[in-house]
Amino acid sequence: MKSSRKTYPVDSTKSPRFAGVSTFARLPYSRDLTDVDAVFVGIPFDDATTFRPGARFGPKGVRENSLLLRPYNPALNVKPFDVLNVVDYGDVDVVPGYIEDTYTRVEREFSKLAEENITPLTCGGDHSITLPILRMLSRRYGKLSLVHVDAHHDCWDEYFGKKYNHGTVFRRALEEGLIEPRRSIHIALRGPLFSEHDYGEVRRMGYSIVTMQDIRENGLDAVIRRVKTLVRPPAYLSFDIDACDPSVAPGTGTPEVGGLLAHEALELIRGFAGIEFIGFDLVEVSPPYDHAGITAMLAANLLYEFLSLTALRKRQTPTSGETL
Ligand code: MN
Ligand code: MN
Repeated sequence: MKSSRKTYPVDSTKSPRFAGVSTFARLPYSRDLTDVDAVFVGIPFDDATTFRPGARFGPKGVRENSLLLRPYNPALNVKPFDVLNVVDYGDVDVVPGYIEDTYTRVEREFSKLAEENITPLTCGGDHSITLPILRMLSRRYGKLSLVHVDAHHDCWDEYFGKKYNHGTVFRRALEEGLIEPRRSIHIALRGPLFSEHDYGEVRRMGYSIVTMQDIRENGLDAVIRRVKTLVRPPAYLSFDIDACDPSVAPGTGTPEVGGLLAHEALELIRGFAGIEFIGFDLVEVSPPYDHAGITAMLAANLLYEFLSLTALRKRQTPTSGETL
């Protein structure tokens, strides 16, 4: 907490979870950034998907399925809302059908957040929304170390002769000098590819790769160790919900079988405790393809883990000394 303002979620022992307007974790909706440490922010844009649409409803779905989150995270032994002032910043006003105009709008909002050193927890939208975020954060903090969890590497060059869409974002980020590839890693890759040179090309760009097969063979601990050796601050975590198996995350645009199960995704993120992430995104949740909200619910819980990592990092600063 920076000073006098304190934001808390609505107390669900006093006000029923199903009452009122849905914000992320029942946090206050506010555009006032005074004393704010972290924000939940939606970017409801899905015009850059190559297959199933619907991620424009992601932020709405995730908010709706975040109402059961509670103040204490026992797995990481932290109370994120005690340590941090967090608000639901609402959504960026995207321009449906126009990716470049949307990027301009996203950059405008995120430059404000970056100036105030606020940690953004962004909810997409399709994966194309990560590029303007990286632009603003790297402008503020310098070249970023990217931890990218996704069934796909999203380093392809173009689709339909176009450079900007959800499958090209990390090639563009590289070309624009936003990330340091030798300190960046793609995790949970799998599924059929365009050619046998696909992964090789990504490695030649300098990126490290961990496939689902690697995870099954060597375990999550090995991946976590590898990430911790590779990554340097400032780091950014981008999580595409299709990293998770369609059995636990069917509500997404480009599902691939054989992915992370819910508990594995949680374990992976918790394993990243100690890494200095300056921002996070959770993308590609498509509520129209979801069932019983299971994808959005998993996404909401992953965002809660991101928040917990941020709180743990903040708690390590000498000024904080609160007990749990
Ligand atoms: Mn992706
Ligand atoms: Mn993907």
